[in-house]
Amino acid sequence: MMVIMKSGHSQEEMDQILSRLNEIGLKGHQIVGVERTVIAVVGSIYPELADELETMDGVDSTVPISSPYKLAGRETKPEPTVVKIGDVEIGSGRTVYIAGPCAVESEEQIMETARAVREAGAQLLRGGAFKPRTSPYSFRGLGEEGLLLLEQAGKSVGMPIVTEVMSVREVDLVAQHADVLQIGTRNAQNFMLLEEAGRTGKPVLLKRGLASTIEDWVLAAEYILNTGNPNVILCERGIRTFETATRNTMDINAIALVKQISHLPLIADPSHGTGKWSLVKPVALASIVAGADGVIVEVHPNPDHALSDGAQSLNFKRFRELIEASRVIGDAIGRPLWPAAAEAAPA
Ligand code: PEP
Ligand code: MN
Repeated sequence: MMVIMKSGHSQEEMDQILSRLNEIGLKGHQIVGVERTVIAVVGSIYPELADELETMDGVDSTVPISSPYKLAGRETKPEPTVVKIGDVEIGSGRTVYIAGPCAVESEEQIMETARAVREAGAQLLRGGAFKPRTSPYSFRGLGEEGLLLLEQAGKSVGMPIVTEVMSVREVDLVAQHADVLQIGTRNAQNFMLLEEAGRTGKPVLLKRGLASTIEDWVLAAEYILNTGNPNVILCERGIRTFETATRNTMDINAIALVKQISHLPLIADPSHGTGKWSLVKPVALASIVAGADGVIVEVHPNPDHALSDGAQSLNFKRFRELIEASRVIGDAIGRPLWPAAAEAAPA
């Protein structure tokens, strides 16, 4: 960290800062310039230090030098992290598809969807059992029953499953049945939940909070990594902006930028990112081109009858078209699709 001194600061103010740094085990190196004097601070800097120093007399501002991401940053680990889920790898340079309904609604619905997305070329099956809904009067998922139906569907078609865990109370239950724990946008900064999910050792799919900056989001991942669990998959799912024509604003910038600053694999969720099925394909393709390692997409046998998120769900035909377009784009940019679950283990 660099501490920039105000012009005209006194020697006494400088001495006080140096002795404060000394007191907390850090070294301050004074660099005297023509207009300004700065102090380079060396040692293990904690997050509150900038605020502490900025309240001291004579200090103008502080500038962090090393990245705040001790575990998620490329500075710590330049090579990409690959998260393995069964035989599928996310972050390997091949594009992975996670598909399924927003919510598990019935045995028939999840089984039919599982078969269709597997045939179309998806590798992982998604489906919500514990649903975070804006209104408590909306369909909130089948809970444990939905989780068991999803597990059964995944096993019967040979696909690992991804589902959301909403509270610390359900972490053990969900971890017992799911291959990947999803932390939703509304819980993206529920730090206790992040740590509990991390402690299971299972891969965690961390959605970006709907009002999280990129720094908030990567620091949230840091909570999971800090439990000793390296298997974190980031997911850009759109953020809240002033725009009302789409449900959220898909932040394609974030995909490209986060791939630069972090070694973690990152996937895109164009379903929640746009809120409209007709925008899912173009935004999925754009996300792949921007550097996403995979796409998570909502697919329903009958979107107009879906109990949640029907407007953004693809039917089976549209999902097949999306996979085909992704194959063409993936081949063109040197990030081909991961072999489909159906190819890896024909039924
Ligand atoms: C979901 O994946 O169905 C979901 C609720 O996602 P998000 O948390 O991104 O809204
Ligand atoms: Mn949804």
